[in-house]
Amino acid sequence: MTRDMICVSCPIGCALHVELDDAGNVLSVSGNTCKRGEKYAIDECTNPVRMLTSTVKVNGGKLPVVPVKTSAPIPKGKMFECMKAINNEVVDAPVKMGDIIISNVCDTGVDIVATNEV
Ligand code: SF4
Repeated sequence: MTRDMICVSCPIGCALHVELDDAGNVLSVSGNTCKRGEKYAIDECTNPVRMLTSTVKVNGGKLPVVPVKTSAPIPKGKMFECMKAINNEVVDAPVKMGDIIISNVCDTGVDIVATNEV
């Protein structure tokens, strides 16, 4: 089977073509103009990850929510579960930029951190 995707590792956006075997193993990558594109295609086919940004409710602050993000990319398959954890979280003001809001969210090994102050 094959997959076509755009490499988002840089603004050039090369069109990648990936050939996979029936087990989902990558056999070849083409269309990339550098090694980062090959790595992107392999990761995207075998273990896709994404950064997650959202907001968390704040009690007693000047604003009702604080913006947050994951401290590193998380597996794409965990996005929905992590969003539920973020939506269920409520913190008390004051919140400082860089505060860990949720440690090891959904056993990903990644923290949810505040990206602003409230
Ligand atoms: S393959 Fe290389 S040059 Fe092409 S978009 Fe990806 S990082 Fe940029």
